[in-house]
Amino acid sequence: MDLGWKNRVAVVTGGSSGIGRETARLLLQDGARVAICARGAERLAATAKEFADAGFGDNLLAAPCDVLDVDAVARFRDAVLARFGGVDALVNNAGQGRVSTFAETDDAAWEAELHFKFFSVIRPTRAFLPALAASGSGAIVVVNSLLARQPEPHMVCTSAARAGLQNLIKSLSVEFAPQNIRVNSILIGTVDSDQWAKRYPVQAKPGQSKEDWLRGLAEEKGIPLGRFGRPAEPAAAVVFLASPVASFITGAALEVAGGVSRFA
Ligand code: NDP
Repeated sequence: MDLGWKNRVAVVTGGSSGIGRETARLLLQDGARVAICARGAERLAATAKEFADAGFGDNLLAAPCDVLDVDAVARFRDAVLARFGGVDALVNNAGQGRVSTFAETDDAAWEAELHFKFFSVIRPTRAFLPALAASGSGAIVVVNSLLARQPEPHMVCTSAARAGLQNLIKSLSVEFAPQNIRVNSILIGTVDSDQWAKRYPVQAKPGQSKEDWLRGLAEEKGIPLGRFGRPAEPAAAVVFLASPVASFITGAALEVAGGVSRFA
């Protein structure tokens, strides 16, 4: 199915790694013009080179930007508009989880996590809103977590922040509807990305392969499909929800979690 991406412009925050990088790759393959940002310039440049080597250089803008920094987000927005002339879709993906129980989480950690989860969406959304409205068929997709509905005690403040964010997404879907900007989210379970690559050397048994460690974790977590997701899997859901083909879908939350949710 042609998702209608040819010549549309999409912005993907956190596009240098994992789900964001695969989302950008799928969008480029579908003919979109794509802007990605992340804080780390080196990894961003490596991703940009990979895409350019695959022949997508003309349709790609990669610029370092911390999505929490208002001025940096404004500069990124200006660069995107200068290069592509408009924006049709914004994928709010940048982020990471915080592993801690209530007993381990002090006020500073609570404040940092609540700030991060909300403002990493609020700031890019506010900055790109006029351009999305001008598109006439704008779309925002937020990469959120199943923790929003199914909290985990070992990720207490990330779970609470994700739930609040999900509530915000619903409000935005209603407020932006008159401008024909759709707002949806995906709720992901566990996806084998950089976050898990960093945990592997710390958590695996000596000599245990990453595949074996992930298989054990999938079993422990009771994931019905028996494995972690691959970054391209949630990316495909994002690309669909942000596309013109999803034109009557707004305020929806799509689980991409291997069946691990316990909700009917
Ligand atoms: P990765 O760690 O692979 O990628 C995260 C990306 O976000 C990187 O490009 C990173 O680059 C960027 N990023 C982080 N903070 C900022 C910031 N302040 N400003 C701009 N860019 C930033 O993670 P995933 O692909 O796994 O995660 C994508 C999203 O999915 C995140 O929001 C994550 O919390 C969420 N998620 C992931 C799960 C999983 O199992 N993988 C589970 C539940 C949710 P840099 O560090 O250079 O800025």
